[in-house]
Amino acid sequence: MPCRVCDSTRLEPAIDLGQQPWCNHFLRPEEVGREPFYPLRVVYCRDCSTAQLDFTVKKEIMFGDHTYLSGTTRSLGEHFGGMAREVDERFFKNLPGKSVLDIGSNDGTQLKHFQRLGYDVLGVESSKTTARIAQEAGVPTLNQFFNLEVARNLGRKFHAVNAAGVFFHLEELHSVTDGIREALRPDGVFVLQFLYMKRIVENLAFDQIYHEHLLYYNLETVAKLLARHGLALFDAYLAPIHGGSMIAFVAHQSRGLAPSDRLQALLRAEASEHSNDLATYLDFARRIQRMKAENLAWLDRAKAAGKRIYGMGAPVKGNTLLNYFKIGPQYLDCLVEKNELRRGLYSPGMHIPVVIEKELTQLPDIYYVLAWNFKKEILANNQPLLARGLEFFFPVNPKDE
Ligand SMILES: [Zn+2]
Repeated sequence: MPCRVCDSTRLEPAIDLGQQPWCNHFLRPEEVGREPFYPLRVVYCRDCSTAQLDFTVKKEIMFGDHTYLSGTTRSLGEHFGGMAREVDERFFKNLPGKSVLDIGSNDGTQLKHFQRLGYDVLGVESSKTTARIAQEAGVPTLNQFFNLEVARNLGRKFHAVNAAGVFFHLEELHSVTDGIREALRPDGVFVLQFLYMKRIVENLAFDQIYHEHLLYYNLETVAKLLARHGLALFDAYLAPIHGGSMIAFVAHQSRGLAPSDRLQALLRAEASEHSNDLATYLDFARRIQRMKAENLAWLDRAKAAGKRIYGMGAPVKGNTLLNYFKIGPQYLDCLVEKNELRRGLYSPGMHIPVVIEKELTQLPDIYYVLAWNFKKEILANNQPLLARGLEFFFPVNPKDE
């Protein structure tokens, strides 16, 4: 396979997480043990430095339907509201007829905030169930995979284009990026949000690596991709979402906007800390192996002491961690989850049953927190349990939370 960004064939193995099931599909009882496994390996491109998976699970399998809803957590809801206000105040305040296109619009949570600010909105969402939830909530949504052809068929251009957390799972990367340029007005702003690989490495948050995430960007690498498609970064900052997300602002390259001071500072930090060097990724892989040994030793001690342990949250990324560490029902009795779409399902690969939080009949001694990116929210919501001595163990401890 050539590099997904620059077509180079000089790809080096960097991180091997073994064979893993597609982690977003929680299993119905009759599917347990019948799920397919695929290689989960990160390779590094010697030419453009982009970290990426060397195997693609077909997008129809990955995104035809999924049970992730962005509206279910409060801190994400606040983030979406803040993003809409920020984009409006910085770029489009008091403009008549303003419009926004959201790619990977999920249940419409982000677009509802733009609607409140007077925007004409359109979402594009590949999951049928999720697109229907958005439509029923009054958010116009196309149930399609966005690409250049879809953008041309829209027959209109937008003041703002938003893509949060989708830019790294695009099989048709170049067609999608061309589509974004096509759909963006000449004076428009493309708001790109992505998991920041530099932060993933610093946080040891290797569970952010899964089949949906085909690409792992830093600013230097995403800038190279955008430049290939006539787009350019002009500003960026790091936000504490998903354990460290980059919010980047992009315009047509032809506008020649000067990069902001904070964008330049972030790029300088990547260079001085060797964030785009192969050696950094190889060291990351070694640190993940150590983390596995330490986590298993801790769990073994807790089980030997007779502790009852539940997983907290059933996030997609949790499955990478569970499968790589080989943590199954021998350690965790169940995964406790708020999202009722996952009632009665089992985690792929390790087959841990999901239980809905409000339907729990017995509490554990320890919560092994898979949804670690909501650390603050989880600790704040569970004060009474903490006071009773229930322990919350966070396998990943993000800097930004
Ligand atoms: Zn490359």
